[in-house]
Amino acid sequence: MFVRILIVEDEPAVRELITYNLQQSGYDTVQAEDAEKAMMIINEALPDLILLDWMLPKMSGVEFARTLRRQDRTRGIPIIMLTARTEEADKVMGLDIADDYMTKPFSPRELVARINAVLRRLAPEASDQVVELDGLKLEPSKHQVTAGNNKVELGPTEYKLLHFLMTHTERVYTRSQLLDRVWGDHVFVEERTIDVHIRRLRKALESVGKDEWIQTVRGAGYRFSVVAPLADDAAKTSL
Ligand code: CA
Repeated sequence: MFVRILIVEDEPAVRELITYNLQQSGYDTVQAEDAEKAMMIINEALPDLILLDWMLPKMSGVEFARTLRRQDRTRGIPIIMLTARTEEADKVMGLDIADDYMTKPFSPRELVARINAVLRRLAPEASDQVVELDGLKLEPSKHQVTAGNNKVELGPTEYKLLHFLMTHTERVYTRSQLLDRVWGDHVFVEERTIDVHIRRLRKALESVGKDEWIQTVRGAGYRFSVVAPLADDAAKTSL
């Protein structure tokens, strides 16, 4: 499972129903009953999308969405708001705090369709958009990576891997997830293959002083981070 969806909903029955349906559709799910719990989950790893209930105890879904939009790390997470009434839905879209909404009650099938649509729209590694991070520039149309005037020489796999990582920063991916997302097939490729390509990619990025952006997270996988790593769970190891 490579697309991880965070479900923030205080009603256990609704939460379970959504979880069941998303898992049936092949999604990886994680649940939170309030904003506080959701934030703890997000602090550990960014989900690919959040289903966020409007009416939550303590902090409301709207308030929580605003909090996420204010922070660089969480700003880009796609949010689908779950609302009880259409007026709320109008407000959600009007305030520009969610990427889409669902009015309760909704059919699981429609929910899955909406999730797929939002992910397609917001999955940048699949687009031709230029990615630029603190001096490192990746141009899909030219298949080229540069840092200032320096070209970074990459093999096709390293290029693909870097494109994915640059569009998915600040979150940890397991080797298995990287195989799914970058190679598209994790069945016939050994996980240690990832380490080989990560090593090559680091070596290529070393020439422009960006190799430390690829972090090894012990017992988990890899994270591409342009900010300082969290001291307790991230450590760069020599491979
Ligand atoms: Ca609720």
